[in-house]
This record gives sequence, C-alpha cells and structure tokens, in this order.
Amino acid sequence: MSIKSQLHDVRESLPAGVTLVAVSKTHAPARIEEAYAAGQRIFGENRPQEMVTKYRMLPKDIEWHLIGHLQTNKVKLVAPFVKLIHSVDSERLVRVINNEALKLGRVIDILFEIHVAEEETKSGWQYEQLLKYVQSGALRTMTGVRVRGVMGVATYTDDEFRVRLDFDLLAQHKKELSAYFDDTFDTLSMGMSDDYPLALEYGSTMVRIGSLIFGKRNYGTAADQQEETL
Ligand SMILES: *Cc1c(COP(=O)(O)O)cnc(C)c1O
Repeated sequence: MSIKSQLHDVRESLPAGVTLVAVSKTHAPARIEEAYAAGQRIFGENRPQEMVTKYRMLPKDIEWHLIGHLQTNKVKLVAPFVKLIHSVDSERLVRVINNEALKLGRVIDILFEIHVAEEETKSGWQYEQLLKYVQSGALRTMTGVRVRGVMGVATYTDDEFRVRLDFDLLAQHKKELSAYFDDTFDTLSMGMSDDYPLALEYGSTMVRIGSLIFGKRNYGTAADQQEETL
C-alpha cells in the first residue's frame, strides 16, 4: 500500500477534531514529500538534528513536532521553527526552551510528557512532581512557552486492560491540570499505530502515528535499536 492510501485510511479512522501527527522519524525526505503531496502538513520527529535537516530540505509550511527526548543543549537547534514540543519532562528543560524562545521573540508551544507506562525506561514526569511544579506558579513568569497540554506513551503490551489504564490516567491528569491553565491547554497527545483506537476512546485529541503510514522503520545500528525501545 502506498503512503497516500495508508494516510487516507488513518485519516478516515479519526473523529473530527483529532489532529494527526505523521511520525516520520528515520524515513527519507522523499517519503515525507509523498505524505505532503497527499495533504499531510504535521510531521513528528524524535531527534533534533534529524528534524533540522528535514526542515531545511522540505516545504516551509510543514509543522514540525518534536516527540522524542530533548536534551537542553539541543533546544537551540529546533527553537527557531519547532511548532510543538511534546516531550517536555523537566523544569530545567522548560527554562531553557523559555530562554531560547525569548531570544527569538517566539512563544513555543509545549506539552508535558507524563510517565504512565509500566516500563521504568520511559521518560516523562512523575505526575506528583509535575503537579507540584505547576502549582508552584513558576510557569507564570515564563512568557516564552505556552503549555498546550500533556503527552504520554502507554505500556508496550498486548494487555489491553493495562493500556486502557494508562490512557485513562493520562486523561485524568490532563483534566486536573487544566484547572491551572487557560483554555489553550487543550491538547491530549496519546495513541500510536498499535494503540490509537483505544487512546481515542479516552479522549485523545492528537495521535502520533508512524509505522501505519510509512511502514516499518529501518534502523542501522544496535545503538539505534536500543534508542527505539527506550
Ligand atoms: C515513534 C513514536 C511514535 C510512532 O510510533 P508508531 O508505532 O510507528 O506509530 C509515537 N510517539 C512517540 C513518542 C514515538 O517515539
């Protein structure tokens, strides 16, 4: 099946109002262009350098979302153009993004990544810590960032019950946190190729789908493989 038809099928399966992020990590720019030609404008990448390279090569009306772990020393690379950073998981990272945004005269949209999965390796805030941070009011002075909502990755398992628990919890966290923000806190980013139909049941507003659109990812090295499983 072509990227165009896969994309079509995925779109058909989404309720109105749900945003599709086409996760293009590891895929060549030519494949992104295929999706672009089929009307897709939002793409997700998990490595800053790879995203910058693709940004430079591809049409400028693409909205680039960073979905993978972001080191503070890489913020500068993506700050000029990134549309939404899904993977904000520390106070320090918020501060660095805020500083870079202010230097550029931008406001950068971010999501807080919350850890809900069983696996200990998955990144993200412990919810209690995030809640304390939000309640501390520290964000009020950070005019370079706008918190749009939360993101999460469910446990990687065939156990549907466990995946439902994770999505349910994320949805609850998002609802609780919304008390501390205005109505631009509107995004619940959850659901990937294997689990997005479940995520939609729990109110996902943004799904991040890669392999279902682009096919299997090709990783060259063992280190890459490992990064992928993290
Ligand atoms: C790779 C990735 C996705 C997409 O995964 P697929 O299973 O290919 O749909 C979504 N979210 C995050 C955070 C990812 O790293």
